[in-house]
Amino acid sequence: MAVPTDRYSELRARLEAEHRSLTDEVNSLREGMMSYTEDIRMEDRSYGNHMAEDAADTYEQERYLTLLRNSESVLHEVEDALHRMDQGTYGICEVCGKEIPIERLEARPHATRCIEDQAREEQRR
Ligand SMILES: [Zn+2]
Repeated sequence: MAVPTDRYSELRARLEAEHRSLTDEVNSLREGMMSYTEDIRMEDRSYGNHMAEDAADTYEQERYLTLLRNSESVLHEVEDALHRMDQGTYGICEVCGKEIPIERLEARPHATRCIEDQAREEQRR
C-alpha cells in the first residue's frame, strides 16, 4: 500500500463525501436545466418569440450545461479514484506508475497523475 492507512481512510472518507455532494449537484443542475427549459416553453406560448430573450435563454442554458459538464467530469474522477482504491491502485500515477506524494493526494484526492505528468498534460491542452 502506497498510502499510510490512517491518511488513506481519511482520503476515502473525503472522496465519499465529495461523491455524495457532486451527485446532488449534478442532479439539481439537471433538474434546474429541465425546469428552465419548461419555463422557456411556457414563456414562448404566452409572449411569442423575441430574439433578445432567445439569446439570453441560450446563454443561460449554456451556463447550466457548462456547470453540469464540469461537475460530471469531477464526479467521474472521484468515482474513478474510489474504484482505484478498491483495486489497490490508488495513489499511483497513471502515466509513469510512480507513487503520487501523499501531500498531493491530500490537496487533490482524485488526482490520477503525479505533478510532473499533470503539468505535461495541461501544457498539451
Ligand atoms: Zn507520473
